[in-house]
Amino acid sequence: MKKYNFNAGPSMLPREVIENTAKQILDFNGSGLSLAEISHRAKDFQPVVDEAEALIKELLDMPKDYSVIFLGGGASLEFCMVPYNFLEKKAAYLNTGTWAKKALKEAKLFGEVVEVASSADANYTYIPKGWTCPADVDYLHITTNNTIYGTEIRKDLDVPVPMIADMSSDIFSRPVDVSKYNCIYAGAQKNLSMAGVTVVIIKNDALGKVSRQIPTMLDYRTHVDKGSMFNTPPVVPIYCALENLRWIKKNGGLEATDKRARERADILYTEIDRNKLFHGTVATEDRSVMNICFVMNEEYADLEKPFLDYAISNGMVGIKGHRSVGGFRASCYNAQTVEGVQALVKCMKDFEAQH
Ligand SMILES: *Cc1c(COP(=O)(O)O)cnc(C)c1O
Repeated sequence: MKKYNFNAGPSMLPREVIENTAKQILDFNGSGLSLAEISHRAKDFQPVVDEAEALIKELLDMPKDYSVIFLGGGASLEFCMVPYNFLEKKAAYLNTGTWAKKALKEAKLFGEVVEVASSADANYTYIPKGWTCPADVDYLHITTNNTIYGTEIRKDLDVPVPMIADMSSDIFSRPVDVSKYNCIYAGAQKNLSMAGVTVVIIKNDALGKVSRQIPTMLDYRTHVDKGSMFNTPPVVPIYCALENLRWIKKNGGLEATDKRARERADILYTEIDRNKLFHGTVATEDRSVMNICFVMNEEYADLEKPFLDYAISNGMVGIKGHRSVGGFRASCYNAQTVEGVQALVKCMKDFEAQH
C-alpha cells in the first residue's frame, strides 16, 4: 500500500532527493568512494557547500551583506547561540509556543528579556496581535511557524528593530524579505533535509556587537570566517539539502512552494471545516499551512482512536497530534503532495460516511 508521510519532523523529502543522495552515498561523483567516507575538505566536497549556499542566496533573493552557514546542534543550539552572539543588554521575544518559549528561556541567561506578547493563556491557539515591540532592544525574536500548535506568522512583520527568526518549520515555503532580519535559522529536518544540519543566515555587520567572550564553537564569526569548515560539518545532510534546494529551484522556487503550500492547506482545512466529525484547533486567521492540527468534535470524541487506526490502515503516516494538542496533525512541508492531502481527505470523508 502507498504510504503518505505526514510526519512532523524528521519528515517527508521528495523521492528524487532521497534517491540522488542515496546514489552519492554509494558512489560520490564516480570516485568509487562514498559521500560518507570522504573528507569534508576533499576538493569534490567544497562545490557541494558552495552550491548549497549559492542556491539559498538565490532562492531567498538575499541582500549581499549576508552569510549562510551550516552547523550541527539543531535549532535548539541556536536558542543559545543567538543571544550569545546578539544580545548585549535587552532582547524582545514573542511567545507563540513550545519552541518560542525554549528560545526565550535560553536568552534569559544572557540579559534582560521582554516578552512582548504570549498566547500561552489559550494553549497557543492564536498569534498575539496588537502588541508593540520596544525600540531599545537588540532584536525581536519570533518563531514564524509553530510546529506543535499549528499557527504561523506567514509574513515579515514591521517592527522598529531587526528581527531574528526561528524558521525551522517553514523555511523555503515562501519568499522572505531577508533584509528585515539580522539572523534566520532553521533545523533542516522539516522543510530542507535530513536531520543533522542547521542553516543559519546572518547579517554580517550584526556580528561583533556584544562585549562578552564567546567560546569559539559558539561564535557565529568562527563559522562565517571558515565557510562552515572550522570543524567537520554534517556532510551527508548538507548534500541532501543541496539536492532539495535544486529540487525547489527546478520546481519554480519559493513562489511555487508558497502556492503549493497554500493549495494543500486549503484542501485540508476546507474538509476539516466541512466534516461533521472534526474541527480545527487554532484561530482561523493564524492557521499554519505547514502543520495542520484538528481534533474530533466533542460528540464524536470516542471516535478518535478508531479514526487514527482507520487512517493508518489506509497508508497515512504520522498524523497523531502532538501530546500538547491531542487529536491529529498533518504536517505538509515542501515535499508534501496534493495527492497525499487528497488521500487524507478521502479517509476523513469515508470515515464520516461510516458514522
Ligand atoms: C523542530 C523545531 C525545533 C527544534 O529543532 P531541533 O533541530 O530538534 O533542535 C525548533 N524550532 C522549531 C520551530 C521546530 O519546529
